Amino acid sequence: MEKLQNFINGEYCDPVKDQYMDNYEPASGTVYCQIPNSTAEDVELAVEAANSAFPVWSGMSVSERSKILVKLSEGIERRMDEFVKAESRDNGKPLSLAGHVDIPRAVSNFHFFATAILHYASESHNMEGVGVNYTLRKPIGIVGCISPWNLPLYLFSWKIAPALAAGNCVIAKPSEVTPYTAYLLGKVAQEAGMPPGVLNILHGEGGNAGDAIVKHPRIKAISFTGGTATGEYIARTAAPMFKKLSLELGGKNPNIIFADCDFKEMLSTTLRSSFANQGQICLCGSRIFVERPIYEKFKEEFVKRVENTVVAHPDNPEAKLGAVVSKPHMEKVLSYVELAKEEGGTVLTGGTRVVLDAPYDQGYYLRPTVIEGLSYDCRTNQEEIFGPVVTITPFDTEEEVLMMANSTKYGLSSTLWTSDLKRAHRMANELEAGIVWINAWLVRDLRTPFGGVKASGVGREGGWEALRFFTEPKNVFVKY
Ligand code: NDP
Repeated sequence: MEKLQNFINGEYCDPVKDQYMDNYEPASGTVYCQIPNSTAEDVELAVEAANSAFPVWSGMSVSERSKILVKLSEGIERRMDEFVKAESRDNGKPLSLAGHVDIPRAVSNFHFFATAILHYASESHNMEGVGVNYTLRKPIGIVGCISPWNLPLYLFSWKIAPALAAGNCVIAKPSEVTPYTAYLLGKVAQEAGMPPGVLNILHGEGGNAGDAIVKHPRIKAISFTGGTATGEYIARTAAPMFKKLSLELGGKNPNIIFADCDFKEMLSTTLRSSFANQGQICLCGSRIFVERPIYEKFKEEFVKRVENTVVAHPDNPEAKLGAVVSKPHMEKVLSYVELAKEEGGTVLTGGTRVVLDAPYDQGYYLRPTVIEGLSYDCRTNQEEIFGPVVTITPFDTEEEVLMMANSTKYGLSSTLWTSDLKRAHRMANELEAGIVWINAWLVRDLRTPFGGVKASGVGREGGWEALRFFTEPKNVFVKY
């Protein structure tokens, strides 16, 4: 069976303690490779390599650094097929989604930040008759990047690209559940001429390798995307060491639909915003609020469309949903369907496992699920499920829906469907979220700030926000 390796100091290597873990293929429920179960000893090796590489990488001209990162982006593009197949196999997502969204976005992430650094201009503040201040932006040093399993290479590269572009050396850990494309990235880094030690990729458990990254005193900043409970632990652990922290955490996003919306466009987008990637996108709208005059029409047509949605093996070109990422995750999602029933909800469609023909009968497939009849403040409507499950709830007034939308501890994104321009702006201003889409969903411009409020995180990624996070400002004053 294939054994993946860590990528440290520009070379693939076995973990120091030679311990490995199984990696499952969600589509079949079988083990298909093994990954290093890295420990603090592996993190130490990576820190030593990064420490030696830092003067070289941070001292390189911006245009040289940019060229290497552009090559990295092109290297992924050249191996598109290999990356797409690996991502789909590792995560269970449809091949078409990995090919249209995940891997092209990883290519763009590297290209975007590789070229962004060419346009950076330092700030200056003139004090008339006194002197002038100018602000340098220095790389931090060694930084840790820890990412989740839902959009593996997409989110891994969203952190690594700005960290490297800003001149830092990186120690990165993908989720143990989806390590494969991060493993492949080492080969592309070698081909792109990345100096050894600049990018180090370790595999293994969050509580082990991940924890050792967070605790290492020479790792000066942590960029983390994952669950809110993990984020809280990381914040508690890193704060006494005064590490810089960027935390992109969970969500429970509202999708608010007014009667005056473009119904057809809303309906097809709502299908995607509910179930894309099996509902495992932090930006999915899992709480759908519908204005009462169109509630019954929405319910009927939405449920019909959901029932016709094809759940199939990720390689099947018809598949709109593939497998969810793991058995424990599938069981967690199904437990929330049971909870919803106990809380008085009615399952309008779905709520069950889909068993495909052998050899995929042990795969983790779920029917997309729509539930109604729940109060806005029950657990099903307050806790993150992160699977193909949405609730629908009618509302009567703007005030009422705002109250329900803002009632969770989360505040990542919101979607709003209306053709009333004044209402759209009014509500966008009041929604407690880092991102608001009006008559759209998941339209992403890499220059814009990305992140959430409340328990959805601290800090922002994207554009200059990310480059600011991965640098320290240093103000210099010169007297006239
Ligand atoms: P987790 O928090 O379980 O894990 C995220 C990453 O952190 C994984 O690499 C994990 O490793 C690692 N990790 C776990 N424990 C520790 C620890 N003690 N110290 C350091 N690292 C640790 O999240 P999931 O992977 O389950 O991802 C799903 C979550 O991510 C959802 O809550 C979702 O909303 C959120 N998310 C947020 C996004 C945003 O932009 N706000 C975007 C996408 C997802 P391992 O896999 O080995 O456990």
